Amino acid sequence: MSIVSIQDLRKEFGDVIAVEGANFDIEEGEFVSVLGPSGSGKSTILRMIAGFESPTSGSIEILGDDVVGMAPFEREVNMVFQDLALFPHLTVSENIRYGLQQRGVPKDEQQRRTTEMLEIVDLVGYDDRNIDQLSGGEQQRVALARALVNEPSVVLFDEPLASLDRKLRQRMQFELQQIQEETGITFLYVTHDQEVAMSVSDRMVVLNEGQIEQIGTPEEIYRDPESQFVAQFIGDLN
Ligand code: ADP
Ligand code: MG
Repeated sequence: MSIVSIQDLRKEFGDVIAVEGANFDIEEGEFVSVLGPSGSGKSTILRMIAGFESPTSGSIEILGDDVVGMAPFEREVNMVFQDLALFPHLTVSENIRYGLQQRGVPKDEQQRRTTEMLEIVDLVGYDDRNIDQLSGGEQQRVALARALVNEPSVVLFDEPLASLDRKLRQRMQFELQQIQEETGITFLYVTHDQEVAMSVSDRMVVLNEGQIEQIGTPEEIYRDPESQFVAQFIGDLN
C-alpha cells in the first residue's frame, strides 16, 4: 500500500489553476523531492496533503484512507514550513513536545521522546534554550525534531532550507538524508534546488504550471527527460 496517493488532484484559486490533474503514489520510506519553478504549484500540493487547503477536485489517500475533509492534526502527516513557524516564547524542548502535549501523551513519555529527538537532530543539552538564542541551522533542527517527534508516516517539507547559506544548506541536506534513513519516515520535500534534489532523492516529481511533467529517479530524469521543459530545468544544473 502507498503511504500517500493522489489522484486527479486539482486546485483552483478563482481564475488561477494552481494544480491540474496531478497523480502520484509515494511508497513507504521514500525520499521524494518536488521540483519546479516559482508558482508551479509545489506548496499547494503539499498544503492539500497536509490539510491546509482543500482540493477543488480529486482524491488524497494517506495509508489507504481518504483524508479529504479531515483536519490537519487527524492526518498521519506533519509539515516543516519555510519560515519554520517555531514558537519564539517557548524553549527548544517545549517547542518539540508541543504536539505531544496537545495529543495528551503522558509527561514521562513526552520527556523520553524529546530527549531522543534532541539526540537525533544533534541538539543534546539545548533543552532549555530559547529559540531566539539559536542560529538558523539550529532552529532548523528544532523544526525538524518537532515534525518527527510524534512519529508521523510522512513529513512534508516546504523549502525548509531556503533561508540558509549554501554551505549550511548542503550540510543540513546531508543530515536530513541521514535522519530519513535512520527513522524510515517518508519525506516529501519541496525545493527549487535541482542539485540538492538530484543528490538526495529516491524519486523526483517535476512540476510546471500546475502540471506534473515527469516523475522518476534522478538518474531517469537526468538521462531521459520526457519534455523540453524537464531537460531545460534539470539542465540548469550545469
Ligand atoms: P510554488 O510553491 O510552486 O511557488 P504555489 O503552490 O505557491 O507555487 O502557487 C501556485 C499558484 O497558485 C500560483 O499562481 C499562486 O499565485 C497561486 N496561489 C497559491 N496560493 C494561493 C492563494 N491562497 N490564493 C490565490 N492564489 C494562490
Ligand atoms: Mg512554494
